[in-house]
Amino acid sequence: MSESVLVLGSGNAFFTDGRAHACYLSRWPDPSGAGEIRMLIDYGASSLMRMNQESIPPSTVQGLFLTHFHGDHIGGLPFLLIHFKYIDKRKEPFWILGPAGVQEAVLGLLEQMYPGMELDFPLHFKEIKPEKRIPFMGAEIEVRPVTHRPESVALRLSYPSGKVFAFSGDAAFDENLLQALEGSDLAIVELSIESQPDPDDPTVAHVSLQELQENRSKIRTGRLVLSHIYNALAERVKRLNDSQPGFAEPAFDGLVLSL
Ligand SMILES: [Zn+2]
Repeated sequence: MSESVLVLGSGNAFFTDGRAHACYLSRWPDPSGAGEIRMLIDYGASSLMRMNQESIPPSTVQGLFLTHFHGDHIGGLPFLLIHFKYIDKRKEPFWILGPAGVQEAVLGLLEQMYPGMELDFPLHFKEIKPEKRIPFMGAEIEVRPVTHRPESVALRLSYPSGKVFAFSGDAAFDENLLQALEGSDLAIVELSIESQPDPDDPTVAHVSLQELQENRSKIRTGRLVLSHIYNALAERVKRLNDSQPGFAEPAFDGLVLSL
């Protein structure tokens, strides 16, 4: 089998145009030779529904990586955890990897949504610090800080083949983001807005199409896919890519990206 990323959710926080919250499923061959490793990346409120729609049994997933703790990236996680407990009766460990504070964020959300819930399978947390390469089931995980929330990181996932998948999470368009994507074979980058409403106000820490158009040559990746998007913006990206092949491709729910 090859290494791939399935886009489970290509939408923004508002489910604009019916697109699901941020969620991706990364797959690569199991180093033991049997089957494949499946790791989720971000887990918005709609993510368990999207897994069901795509016939991805939660029991077949080994771990989850979180880029930051906004609701459209983490809000569905309690549903996944209680699915493990009540439906799967899971016994295998589940790993949750992410930036500093990941354990408190996840357990705090679970306690808010299901007070007193006790999980009876091994749930392991791992905080990943920038500049460290963490082995994970035959792959390697690195994070790079990006400008969005204080904890926000982008993911760089190095597959057993040596190919690299980069995911921006949510991020402002700046040097941090460019470094996180540098030299990747595939990059999924958030694209939330057409242009910055006020270039002097950094509170809108999201990538705009205008910034991408002005700086496309600075993004060094083999294939650029734009997500966290809505239909009109995706259509504009598609037209730009038609006139400038290789500019970028818009993501949609259900898109499969092979490396
Ligand atoms: Zn966010």
